[in-house]
Amino acid sequence: MNIAIYRLMAGFRRFRDKYFVPEHLEESIYHRLASSGQTPKTLLIGCSDSRVDPAILSGASPGELFVIRNVANLVPPCETTTSGFHGTSSAIEFAVKNLKVDNVIILGHRQCGGIRALMKDAYSDESFIGQWMQIAKEAKQIVQTKYAESDHEHQCKMAEMESIRVSLKNLKSFPFVQEAIKDRQMNLIGVYFDLELGQLWNYDDSLEEFRQLEI
Ligand SMILES: [Zn+2]
Repeated sequence: MNIAIYRLMAGFRRFRDKYFVPEHLEESIYHRLASSGQTPKTLLIGCSDSRVDPAILSGASPGELFVIRNVANLVPPCETTTSGFHGTSSAIEFAVKNLKVDNVIILGHRQCGGIRALMKDAYSDESFIGQWMQIAKEAKQIVQTKYAESDHEHQCKMAEMESIRVSLKNLKSFPFVQEAIKDRQMNLIGVYFDLELGQLWNYDDSLEEFRQLEI
């Protein structure tokens, strides 16, 4: 077995020793989660990037976060065609309609490879990544106009933030999301993690800009 897998297995042993102590099984959080099911209050849509694991960043407990991770933490627009395999949309549907989460957080981040690829046109439209990143092409266009004089790195950073706004907009294209906002005040939240500086930024809907969170 290679060292990477060995490390993961050792990690699982520590996890099991914490949550599945034979003498205290009935007090374990997993005892409750297994017998009553999950009731997470928050759906978090994050990037697949290995540096931005939502549970590690937030210290969330088992059962606390319902998580979708994909390339560049994107939400596609609601597509009503019956063809296609809509992984992200189906998980959003389940979280909002079945789990009835109170919050949906889109978590973007600095140094996002997906956004970098979009800004560089690194993948053809025929590739899966190239097609997927078309969701954020509006963010690219806005940044290239608004920050035309900026260097590539700054444009990438701005596009990482701008794409969160696009995803927030796309979220609202799902009828069940609209209903949840109207009927039970479900919150849509855009957050940006700057992994170079250890900062968290929050999108302020009324100001239409990101503000650093003082935590
Ligand atoms: Zn990313």
